[in-house]
Amino acid sequence: MEIATAPAKHDSVPLEAKSPFEMRVHLGDDVPDTDVKTALRSGDMGFLHSYTTGSAVDGPGIRLVAWTTACMFRCQYCHNPDTWTLKNGIPVTLEQAIGEVRKYANGLKRMGGGFTLSGGEPLMQARFAARLFAAVKAMGVHTAIETNGFYGEQLSDEELRTIDLIILDVIAFTLEQHKRVTGGMDNSDVIAFAQRLAALKRPMWIRYVLVPGLTDDMEEIDHVAKFAASLGVVERVEILPFHQLGQYKWERLALDYKLADTQPPSNALVQQAVERFTAAGLSAS
Ligand code: SF4
Repeated sequence: MEIATAPAKHDSVPLEAKSPFEMRVHLGDDVPDTDVKTALRSGDMGFLHSYTTGSAVDGPGIRLVAWTTACMFRCQYCHNPDTWTLKNGIPVTLEQAIGEVRKYANGLKRMGGGFTLSGGEPLMQARFAARLFAAVKAMGVHTAIETNGFYGEQLSDEELRTIDLIILDVIAFTLEQHKRVTGGMDNSDVIAFAQRLAALKRPMWIRYVLVPGLTDDMEEIDHVAKFAASLGVVERVEILPFHQLGQYKWERLALDYKLADTQPPSNALVQQAVERFTAAGLSAS
């Protein structure tokens, strides 16, 4: 792999961020495309938006979270559109990424927490993700992935067993609604992945983003709930109320943000959605 001689853009940017809501762009632009291709094939290097420490909302306990860049969806409600592009992230060798987790491993174990890989969509960098999970699992640290599931087939059954918890972002159950929210993407692979995880008995949490006027159709929510309940492995459903923290990123990236005037859902609407999942027999909040 080519060694850059000039200081790279990411050299002055710390890998750790206060939150993924920090805007990060072009940090991997100096990596030649041929090296990117090699890295994606081997998993020797990944691209990360950042790490955050001390998260209490991305899996059980207190967690270290690595946010990957690249995503194949274009969700209308995406809070971090800077993570859509692989080379917006900081190039990190697999060894560096493993080393970051090792620094916190004892503390994470003591606090009943662990390591979560989120994004972006982590499985856009499936080899890197798989090798990182294998190394973290070998440290005895609890592992979780937050994924939209579209590239689930990129992980073997054995690789899936190195991930203690899959947090599946379910955007919609019906194809038409899925395409509407994601910018035209199909969800049959997401559904197939969820069913495969169920057959493998892998513990799963489901996240559903509730956006007034976009994802608050109760009939659609019932479809998602019924499907989730049918899997038999869903331990918890989290309703994530839409917010506008990512709006400034859409504006700065000159993207067409259709939700500029959308308000967060009322508590009553969130409760209504929660009840649809609990009515299906799931634990939801
Ligand atoms: S799947 Fe996640 S990262 Fe990708 S566009 Fe949707 S919300 Fe954004």
